[in-house]
Amino acid sequence: RNSATSAPLRLWFFDTATMPASSPLATFLDGRVSIHVGDLTRHAVDALVNAANASLLGGGGVDGAIHRAGGPAILDACRAIRASRWPEGLPTGEAVLTTAGDLPARYVIHTVGPVYGQHGGREAELLANCYRNSLQLAADNALTSLAFPAISTGVYGYPPSEAAQVVSTTLTAVLATLPGMAEVRLVFFSPADGAIFLRHHRF
Ligand code: ADP
Repeated sequence: RNSATSAPLRLWFFDTATMPASSPLATFLDGRVSIHVGDLTRHAVDALVNAANASLLGGGGVDGAIHRAGGPAILDACRAIRASRWPEGLPTGEAVLTTAGDLPARYVIHTVGPVYGQHGGREAELLANCYRNSLQLAADNALTSLAFPAISTGVYGYPPSEAAQVVSTTLTAVLATLPGMAEVRLVFFSPADGAIFLRHHRF
């Protein structure tokens, strides 16, 4: 194999492996909301939001990345919450708080997004609940900075253009009621996902 053609492609202007996690692509709502591309787990905020599943026992996608990078303390805390508060699993749209283990963030907020097409037309309401309940839970715990992944837009199949509208309108409404919530980062895994958000948001 020719080593020149098999070398990893590194674009100096978009190297998500080395650029600081906190460089935003864009900001909205007086700088309180910022748009990022890269790995959510690298963000050193008060809380990362996890796109969990109802079991709270881990999964793929961003959930897997959080548990891998954060270590076993997060799973232990999730098991304890299952046993004490949600024996049948966390309902869609609800949110719970755990340690962030070894992550640079202080806490993880786990929320369960809707599976697109499985909630009889209530998907937008349930996706909004994820963002609203995560923000309210953070505020109740005096947390002032959060980073969200694009909840439900992976395995759960929510079209990212529709999610952009729901997320932006929900953040506009909820942040108006939470003056202490200083920083909300929306972290997209790929530049393409970030671009879809920037084309479809309603800030
Ligand atoms: P869901 O089951 O809610 O759809 P997924 O984890 O499958 O959750 O996907 C949600 C979004 O998170 C997708 O856009 C996916 O590309 C993205 N994602 C996956 N891993 C990461 C990561 N490490 N950091 C940020 N976003 C991620």
